[in-house]
Amino acid sequence: MNERGLIDLFTAMEALKGPIYECKYYPCHFSEQDCSLCFCIFYPCLLYRLGEIVLSQSGKAVWSCKNCFWIHKKENVEEIVTYFSSYPRQILVEADWYFFNRALQEILFGRELGFMIGKAYNLMPANFHGFNCRSAKDGAFLAVRIREGFLEVREVKNFLDLSDEILIPQKFAKILRGFNGKNYIECEL
Ligand code: SF4
Repeated sequence: MNERGLIDLFTAMEALKGPIYECKYYPCHFSEQDCSLCFCIFYPCLLYRLGEIVLSQSGKAVWSCKNCFWIHKKENVEEIVTYFSSYPRQILVEADWYFFNRALQEILFGRELGFMIGKAYNLMPANFHGFNCRSAKDGAFLAVRIREGFLEVREVKNFLDLSDEILIPQKFAKILRGFNGKNYIECEL
């Protein structure tokens, strides 16, 4: 459970904090940012329009939110708080990564774009949504497991032999590469 994210969400449901000028990291993203959801309830969202995979100092893969400005915009914080206010708190306390990721997709796209493939959850459609995509001759994508704040990542080329993993594209600079079930595709971020 994302305990710190939940605490920030519940606090924001009472009142938004706005900018916290006295924080030693302020502004961590931009001037006048809203600091209500400092610990993101969606972490790790695995959506490249917001964040990306980087290697930690120990060499393990982690999801980086360094360039995510979205969660700090007041209008987005208000939308997130409104969305979750319709749920009993106990549901939110017991909710898992899938619940919060579906919620994020509904907030961003108006509906869930990801879908299950056997035991795996295919998040590639949400990653590709809205970008210019074209077919590619070859390619691969990533199957990710979230383990105690780190990501276990393996490269795969098709939907065979998947486990309870989350499928996301590979990112090369500003290009996402993945698979739409029929073809390999690449999209410009
Ligand atoms: S990239 Fe943004 S929305 Fe995604 S987990 Fe990080 S802070 Fe949250």
